[in-house]
Amino acid sequence: MKILIINAGSSSLKYQLIDMENEAVIAKGLCERIGIEGSKHTYKVPGKEDFVEEKPMPTHQEAVSLVLAALVSPEIGVLSDISEVSAVGHRVLHGGSTYTESILINEDVKRVIRECFDLGPLHNPANLMGIEACEAVMPGTPNVAVFDTSFGMGMEPKAYMYAIPYKYYEENKLRRYGFHGTSHAYVSGETIAYANLPEGNRRVIVCHLGNGSSISASDNGRCVETSMGLTPLEGLVMGTRSGDVDPTVVQYIVNHDHISVDEVLTMLNKKSGVLAVSGVSSDFRDLDAAAEAGNERARLALDMFVHHVVKTVGAYIAVLGGVDAISFTGGIGENSPAIRAQVIGQLGFMGVKLDAEANKTRGKRTLISTPDSTARVYILPTNEELFIARETKRLANV
Ligand code: ADP
Repeated sequence: MKILIINAGSSSLKYQLIDMENEAVIAKGLCERIGIEGSKHTYKVPGKEDFVEEKPMPTHQEAVSLVLAALVSPEIGVLSDISEVSAVGHRVLHGGSTYTESILINEDVKRVIRECFDLGPLHNPANLMGIEACEAVMPGTPNVAVFDTSFGMGMEPKAYMYAIPYKYYEENKLRRYGFHGTSHAYVSGETIAYANLPEGNRRVIVCHLGNGSSISASDNGRCVETSMGLTPLEGLVMGTRSGDVDPTVVQYIVNHDHISVDEVLTMLNKKSGVLAVSGVSSDFRDLDAAAEAGNERARLALDMFVHHVVKTVGAYIAVLGGVDAISFTGGIGENSPAIRAQVIGQLGFMGVKLDAEANKTRGKRTLISTPDSTARVYILPTNEELFIARETKRLANV
């Protein structure tokens, strides 16, 4: 059985076709510049040369049609007929407070995705376009929505509420939702399975450290805390996001620079984080090189990043009442031995110990703690598409 995974952005559409017999990727690709001059489709089949076509894609519907045409093409295709696609799984940013789990898409689900446009203004409209394009081009094929917010919906009110007038929760659903949910759900679930953690000892912390970074604490697969909030701006210092700041900072900049709140928010999302502190780059490889060459602001940016990760992991260990496993994922989490060593080094006081040799590994599922460590530590590469595919298989019942 084959499942198509769609991740639709405002002008892009990423996809993977996954064979659920062995969970292998059969084909994947990307449509870029949808609705913009110069649209481009890149299609990849493992072991074969990439296929690139530049054809107009005024809407997501033409993009999906091009993807399907490539998949069944006699020359480059991997399917004999499109009916071999049993179901389509869609990554959807925001399910609001209505959906605590993935769901088979019907008109009600689309209505809720639409109602959440104000909570996910950049992503939800695009996600809905991807869904409607598939409905139009593949009528009768079930579509499943997997929400980035579902995992965070496991939090209790004491963790997800903001201490602001209650009406904003009641009337406007302002609360902490958490993001990177598919990644946290996948990695925490895989950590429990891979470490074979017994029931009662499934307190897991996942550090998803990439361009966007977030940490989650879960117990037996249920999210207890996660660092992002109403939007992905809350929490850790990130590539270009500030993470937590006192809201008065916003007021000060608005009054001082005579710019709007929206402009300050754009600054906090796109021009802050380690990029702003270092003045060098948002990419950790550049920061490492600059710090190595003696750039003090690059060193400070890296130190701040680690400090905030340690502070959050420490708080989450307290909230969980201990920790059984800690997993690192995302571009930095999977590839930076130095960041992992600094974070875990700070947990030495509670008997968490890193195996320095194993920690040299990059991008591969690996146990990196010593046998006598009080908690197991892993590198566990995330696979959001596979998580969406498994959810789609379960819900589409195919
Ligand atoms: P996104 O949040 O966009 O999905 P990724 O999870 O792909 O981001 O992570 C991108 C980040 O991973 C970049 O900041 C990059 O510097 C970092 N990264 C990738 N490889 C390495 C490496 N070898 N060492 C340190 N950082 C790395």
